Amino acid sequence: MTDKSPKKTILKSKVTPLPPLGMESKHLVSDFKRNYNYRLGRDEQSQSPFYAYEALSFAVNDRLIERWKKTHNAYERADCKKAYYLSMEFLMGRTLSNAMLNLGVDDVANKAMYKVGLEMEELLESEPDAGLGNGGLGRLAACFIDSCATLRLPVTGYGLRYEYGMFSQQIVNGEQIEKPDHWLRNGNIWELERPEYTQRIKFGGRTETHTDEQGNTCVCWVDTHDILAVPYDTPIPGYRNGTVNTLRLWKAQATEEFDLAEFNAGDYAEAVAAKNTAENITMVLYPNDANENGKALRLRQQYLLASASLQDVIANWVSGHGNDFSQFAAKNCFQLNDTHPSISVAELMRLLIDGQGLSWDDAWKITCSTMAYTNHTLLPEALERWSVNLFRQLLPRLMEIIFEINANFLEEVSAHWPGDHERLARMSLVEEGHEQHFRMAYLAIVGSYSVNGVAALHSKLLQQGLFRDFYELWPEKFNNKTNGVTPRRWLAGCNPELASLITDTIGDGWITDLSLLKKLEAFADDQDFHKRWQDVQQNAKQRLVDYKKIEHGIELNVDALFDVQVKRIHEYKRQLLNVLHVIHLYDRIKRGDTVNWTDRCVLIGGKAAPGYFMAKRIIKFINNVAHVINNDPEVGSKLKLIFLANYRVSAMEKICPGADLSEQISTAGKEASGTGNMKFMMNGAMTIGTLDGANIEMREEVGDDNFFLFGLTEEQVQAQSQHYDPVVIINQDDDLQRVMNLIECGHFNQFEPGMFDVIKDSLKNPHDPWMTIADFRSFVDAQKRVEVAYQDKQRWTRMSILNCAASGKFSTDRTISDYNNDIWKLTPVNVN
Ligand SMILES: *Cc1c(COP(=O)(O)O)cnc(C)c1O
Repeated sequence: MTDKSPKKTILKSKVTPLPPLGMESKHLVSDFKRNYNYRLGRDEQSQSPFYAYEALSFAVNDRLIERWKKTHNAYERADCKKAYYLSMEFLMGRTLSNAMLNLGVDDVANKAMYKVGLEMEELLESEPDAGLGNGGLGRLAACFIDSCATLRLPVTGYGLRYEYGMFSQQIVNGEQIEKPDHWLRNGNIWELERPEYTQRIKFGGRTETHTDEQGNTCVCWVDTHDILAVPYDTPIPGYRNGTVNTLRLWKAQATEEFDLAEFNAGDYAEAVAAKNTAENITMVLYPNDANENGKALRLRQQYLLASASLQDVIANWVSGHGNDFSQFAAKNCFQLNDTHPSISVAELMRLLIDGQGLSWDDAWKITCSTMAYTNHTLLPEALERWSVNLFRQLLPRLMEIIFEINANFLEEVSAHWPGDHERLARMSLVEEGHEQHFRMAYLAIVGSYSVNGVAALHSKLLQQGLFRDFYELWPEKFNNKTNGVTPRRWLAGCNPELASLITDTIGDGWITDLSLLKKLEAFADDQDFHKRWQDVQQNAKQRLVDYKKIEHGIELNVDALFDVQVKRIHEYKRQLLNVLHVIHLYDRIKRGDTVNWTDRCVLIGGKAAPGYFMAKRIIKFINNVAHVINNDPEVGSKLKLIFLANYRVSAMEKICPGADLSEQISTAGKEASGTGNMKFMMNGAMTIGTLDGANIEMREEVGDDNFFLFGLTEEQVQAQSQHYDPVVIINQDDDLQRVMNLIECGHFNQFEPGMFDVIKDSLKNPHDPWMTIADFRSFVDAQKRVEVAYQDKQRWTRMSILNCAASGKFSTDRTISDYNNDIWKLTPVNVN
C-alpha cells in the first residue's frame, strides 16, 4: 500500500489477456442477455427494439475490440509504413449489420435473436445512420476504409465527429423541409472516447520572430485562442480476416484554462458561452455537396481536422523515433480527400519547422513526399478559395507559410517558363483581385507527390483543362484512380438473396475478389439460373414496394419497370431531364399513344443543399408532377412517379437491389465518377447513361449491347455550347414541344402561378450549362430501347446477369489496391 499511482496498479494487475470471446450463437445469446439486463438495465417490459439493438451491438463490439487490439499490436510489431485518409466526410450509414457480416457472425446472430424471440430486421432498423457526409465523396471514404481493412492495409481514417450529421429531409406540400439530424441523441455504442490522445489547436493571435543562440530565426505563434480536439475511435473490421482498423473522429472541446480565466473574472455565463463557441466547431456538417461557401466556421473545421490529425501522427512518431524525422516520409503518407483537408500541406510544414525544429528545406522534402491529393470535381464553383484576410485573422502563421510556399513555387515556375508572366499569375496560389484568395487546390497540388482524378475521363479532363499548367510542369504527379464501392455493404450485405445465389453458383470468393463475378457469364443463357435470378430480383422489388408502402403510403406494381434516380439533387445530374421524359410518357398516355406500353415506376430521391434554390425548386417540380400523374385515373398503373424522401445510405441499401433501371444521366464531362451507378450495376440493374464519369468504364466492361447509351459526348457538349439554341430544338421536336407546353401552361402548378418559371427559363436558356434540351430526343429514344428490352424477359435477365458479372472492376478493393500500388506502397500486415 505504498504506491497508489494508477499506472503502477494497472501494470501489476493481470487484466489481460482474456480467453477469446465465443463466436457461436449460444455465446451471443448469453452476452446479449447480460448486456440487456445489466449494462442497459432493461427487462422484458421494455418494448423498444433500440435496447435490443444496443445489447447485440455491445456483444458484437466486444468482439471487434478484441481484434482491434491485436491489429494495433501487429502494426506496432511490424513497424510498417502507414497511410492516413483525411476526409471532412465519412458517410458510414449503419454499423451493426456490416460489423456482423465482416466478423462472420451474421448467421449465428440471426439464430441468437431467433432464440431470444426478437426480430432481427426490426432491431437493425432502429439504428440511426451515421450520416457524416453529403453524398458520393463521403460514401467513398466509408467504402475505402472497409477495403483497406479487408486488404489488411494499415490505414487510419481521420475525420470530424459532427454532433449533427446530414439533415433529415421531409417533404411538405412538395417542398423540402430540413430537420436537424441529432444522430448521437441516444448515444453511440460503437465509438470509444480517447481523451489521452487529445490535441491542442491554435486559432487567432499573431506571430513573433526570434533569433536563438545559434543565430537561427524561429517563429512563434502567440496570443492564440486554443481549443482542444478529442478523438473518438470507431473500429473498422476487414472481411473475416482478423483485421480491425480505426476511424478517428475529432470533437472540438473548450480548454480548461479558457473556462477558468472567465470564471475568475466572475462571469460564469460568459464562460459557458465561450465554451459553446469553441465546441461549435464540430457541431454540424455543412450540407453543401460540390459547392463551397467561404464561412469562417468551415475553415475552422478544416484546420481542426488537419492540425489534430497531423499532430496525432507526429506525436506517435516522436514516441517511437524521438526527433529523428529522416525516416518519417518513408513510413507515413496522407491521402487528402478533395481540397477540404488541403491546409494539411501548410500545417505539416508548421509542425515540422516550428514544432520539431526542422529547416524549411527538410520540412518541404518531407511534406512533398507524404501528401497525396484526390480531386473530386471539375465544377468551378466547387473549387475552394479562402480569403487571405480570413487566414490572417484566424490562422496567421499558416498564412505566412502559404505565402512562402508560393514564393518558392513561383520561382520554380519562372525557371521553367522564363518571362511567362501570364502563366505565373494563372498558377499562383494567390488569386489577386479586390481581395486576395488562396487557391486551395493549387496548394494541394504543389504540396503533393500524387494528384489523382476519380475516373478515366475525369483524370484526363483535369490534365487537359483545370490543372493543365500543373500537368505541364509535373506530368509524373498526375494519375487516375477510378472509384469503386465495397461489395460487402453493396452486394453481400444489402442483397443477401442475390449474394447467396451467386455463392451457390460460383463459390464465395467474389466477396473479396469481385473480378470472380465474371464466372457468372457462363450462366447468362442457363434457363434454371435465369429462373432463380428472376425470382431474386422480383423479391427485391417486392421488398422495395413494401418499404415504399411503409414510408410513403403508396402501393406500387411489382411488374412495372422500376426506373430509379437517387443522388444529390443538382442541375448537372439532370433530374430535370428525367422529369421531362416522365411528362412525355404522361402526354403519350393522355393522347392514347399506348400500344405495346411498358408500365413504369419512376423513383427519384435526393437531398438539395438548403441554400441551393434551383435544386429545391426541382424537388417541388418532381413532387407536383408526381401529384398530377399519380392522381389521374386515366394513367393508372401505366405510370407512377414517386419522390423518395430522405435518401441516405440505409435507404440505398433497400433501393439498389430492387431497381431495374439506373439513371446516370449527367451532362457529359460534369460527373467526376459517380458511385451510385456502380451499386446498381453490381445488383444487376441496367444503366441508362451518358458518356460521363465512370459510366464510360462500366460500359467498356459490360459491352455496348448491355448498356443504354444516349446523349452528347463531352467534346460535343464543348463544341455545341458555343451555339446552343434550345428554343430551336424545342420547335423541331413535337414531343418536346408538347412537354414544354404542359409545363408552360401551368398544368403542374394550377394553384401556384409562376412556380416553375425558373425551371422553364433555365431549360430554354442558350447559356444553360447542362444542355438538358440538347439530350432530350436521344434520351427518349434510349428509353424506348429500354422498354423493348424489358418486354423480352429472357433478354433482360441475360443483360442483368451480364451487368452484375461485369461489375468486378468497381470494387473499392480494386481501387484501394491501385492506390496502394501506385501511391501509398504499404505492405499488408497479417494479424492472425
Ligand atoms: C452512393 C451514394 C451517393 C453517390 O451517388 P451518385 O449517384 O454517385 O451521386 C450519394 N448518397 C448516398 C447515400 C449514397 O449511398
